[in-house]
Amino acid sequence: MKHTCPHCGEKTFTPLQKALCGGMSSAGKKCPSCGGRCVNGKASLLLNTILRLIAFVMIIVTYFVHTTFMQILWFGVVPLVLAFVIGFLFDMFFGKLIEAIKHE
Ligand SMILES: [Zn+2]
Repeated sequence: MKHTCPHCGEKTFTPLQKALCGGMSSAGKKCPSCGGRCVNGKASLLLNTILRLIAFVMIIVTYFVHTTFMQILWFGVVPLVLAFVIGFLFDMFFGKLIEAIKHE
């Protein structure tokens, strides 16, 4: 299963390559076929924003509520890791690649 390049329409991006393209604010990665730069689109941006917001709220709550090491680990660190992993997996399998707006 490969992802379609928005520049040339060829299926050139593997899931891992797509996830590594980054979000709309990043410079993106070059398509191996046409050299056009691609980033993950709006769906990825939206999901990552929500996930990071949840993780951020969890950290604030942890700061005020939880005191033991295990509590801090489970409620402060795990959500942050999960947010990153879920966002990465989403970029690998879902969402569309779009043309990078930002240039080098
Ligand atoms: Zn291409």
